[in-house]
Amino acid sequence: MKNKAVVLLSGGLDSVTTLAIARAAGFDCYAISFDYGQRHRCELSAAANLAAHYGAVEHKVVGLDLGSIGGSALTDQNIQVPEHATNGIPVTYVPARNTIFLSIALGWAEVLGAQDIFIGVNAVDYSGYPDCRPEFIAAFEKLASVATKVGSEGGQMTIHTPLIHWSKADIIRHGVALGIDYAHTISCYNPDEEGHACGKCDSCRLRAEGFSQAGLPDATKYQ
Ligand code: ZN
Repeated sequence: MKNKAVVLLSGGLDSVTTLAIARAAGFDCYAISFDYGQRHRCELSAAANLAAHYGAVEHKVVGLDLGSIGGSALTDQNIQVPEHATNGIPVTYVPARNTIFLSIALGWAEVLGAQDIFIGVNAVDYSGYPDCRPEFIAAFEKLASVATKVGSEGGQMTIHTPLIHWSKADIIRHGVALGIDYAHTISCYNPDEEGHACGKCDSCRLRAEGFSQAGLPDATKYQ
C-alpha cells in the first residue's frame, strides 16, 4: 500500500508542480484547497481540474472566511493589488495564511492516517512572505509532531517543501519534465472572471520571468 500525503493545492504553478512531485515520489495524494475569501477565487476551479488531471485520490475544498479579518489585498476589496514591486512585505501577504492552511492540512492528515504534507512554498523567487521561509516550515514541523496523536505516540509528521530553494525557472523546468501543462494553472492575484491574468501583479511578473528564464513559451492566458 502506498503512503498517503496531503498536498496543498491552490490552482497555481507552484502547487501543481508540488502535487506532481509528491505523486512521482510514490505517494497517494490528497489535495486540499481553500475558499478563503480570495479575490482570485477562480483558482479553485483550476485546482479541481488539476487535482483530477494529475492523479489526486481526492480533492477537498475547505471554506474559511479570512476576509472577516482582512489585512490583505487578496482578501479585502478596499486594498488594491499593487502593479509594481514594493519594498518590504507586500500588501498581498495574507496574515498567517500558511499557518492556518497547514493547520487544517495537518488535521486532515491525522484523519487520513497520513504523516506527510506537501506545500509549494518557495524562498527564492517569491514576494517576501514570512510564512514561506525555511525557518517557518521547520517550526511548523516541530509543532505538528507535538500537536498530534501520531506525534505523541512517537511518530513523525513531515512537511515537504520540494520547491523551497528553486527559482521559478527551476520549478517550471521540473514541472514540464513531469508532464505538466501550465496553461491550466492560475497564478494571478487579480484575474478577470474568466481567469485571464492581469500581467501586472507580482505573481504575474514572477511567473512570466520564470518562463522566460526557463526558455519556455508562457502559456498564460492574459486579459
Ligand atoms: Zn496578475
